Amino acid sequence: MKNRIVILGAGESGAGAALLAQKQGFAVFLSDKGKIKEKYKQVLLQADIDFEEERHTNGLILSADEIIKSPGIPESVPIVRQAVQKGIPVISEIEFASRYSRARKICITGSNGKTTTTMLTWNILKNAGLDVGLAGNVGRSFAGLIAERDYDWVVLEISSFQLDGMFDFKADIAILLNITPDHLDRYAQRFERYAESKFRILQNMTEKDAFIYCMDDPVIVDMMNNTIIRAKKYPFSINYDPEVDGAFLQGNRADYLKSRMCVNINSESMIVTLQEMTLRGRHNTYNSMAAAIASRLLDIKKETIKQSMMDFHGVEHRLEHVATIRGVDYVNDSKATNINSTWYALENATRPVIWIAGGQDKGNDYQKLMSLVKEKVKAIVCLGVDNSKLHAEFGEAVGIILDTSSATEAVKLAYKLGAKGDCVLLSPACASFDLFDSFEDRGTQFKQAVLNL
Ligand code: ADP
Repeated sequence: MKNRIVILGAGESGAGAALLAQKQGFAVFLSDKGKIKEKYKQVLLQADIDFEEERHTNGLILSADEIIKSPGIPESVPIVRQAVQKGIPVISEIEFASRYSRARKICITGSNGKTTTTMLTWNILKNAGLDVGLAGNVGRSFAGLIAERDYDWVVLEISSFQLDGMFDFKADIAILLNITPDHLDRYAQRFERYAESKFRILQNMTEKDAFIYCMDDPVIVDMMNNTIIRAKKYPFSINYDPEVDGAFLQGNRADYLKSRMCVNINSESMIVTLQEMTLRGRHNTYNSMAAAIASRLLDIKKETIKQSMMDFHGVEHRLEHVATIRGVDYVNDSKATNINSTWYALENATRPVIWIAGGQDKGNDYQKLMSLVKEKVKAIVCLGVDNSKLHAEFGEAVGIILDTSSATEAVKLAYKLGAKGDCVLLSPACASFDLFDSFEDRGTQFKQAVLNL
């Protein structure tokens, strides 16, 4: 009989870990303090995996040889502390899954842009005919994927919460997009701890591996100066030509869209004009650069990469164009749950903005948006339970600032405020849980309300 594995949390990653652990012959027990979603309960029942819900039974958990903790569970909860005190290793599902996969891994992390870059990279690899799986924060868990079958390559979206539970894991290609404040509630309000967590993506990497990073990000560059990095480095930048292998922008100051993305790998250049890409906005230039470097490192044909960038229409809820009604654009950026992502949404706007913002605040510093708001926002429609901070910050700068408490109400109000040539932008800079189930729910309700106009 193999060891006993206990899994905490029965979401996508917990259920996936349970399946893989069982397949590997472990004695598996899963415990969830909350109610388990019906979908995952069925998975556990069908696989005949032992579980409990709405409680943690200490005796059943602390008898584990190893615990796989779901990323949503903070390390500070009593059961995890007790396990650590007892000396039981607590790992993440990705750490566990990587033990049973021979796939080479492209791992993507950062504060913003992970899903977009992951999807784009996966699309390019798929279009190139590689045997490639897609997992991590985006859709499937890595464990769940591997439980079904292994791949030659896997593109993995990895959050800092996953990285915290990773020890022996090694990426073959790591992409670090940016590090800006987010989730500080889980890092004792200490930004450096969150940043260190992101840098764990580099652990165990050797000279044979590749580290792709944004050299315009001061936090990344600063931390790199104090970190021994064995992997070969591939910077990307909009502001500079790194003059080494990597990616940069040949600028056209008058018209950003006429700029050209240059990707240099092993003395070969690939050039794509931004106009040719369907993904728009400076942030997406970064994401595209990262995906292109990774793809060129795999020696994928330039033509395939270019074509994939021309065909890739982005991911739902990320600066997604919903409709144009009476000359007003409606854009769903519900996934913008922090200041930095909203900054890029506002920066990208070329029309006067009616900005739908607010929700559950994670300690936002709204001053970072002030100059863009002054320049581009003509009205703010608050969509949250407590909108006092938005009023306090922007009340003076923006003439119109009104409260709503449902997507329908917000869209109707924005419609009334809008004039031909404006843009209604849902980019909340906040989590959604005060009024919605999730950012997907918020975005879906917004889109429905727009289509009902
Ligand atoms: P993540 O998976 O890291 O949350 P997403 O691709 O889902 O990233 O995008 C989240 C939000 O951040 C969206 O509002 C999107 O428009 C914005 N965004 C995407 N890429 C970047 C980037 N490189 N820098 C800043 N914001 C970005």
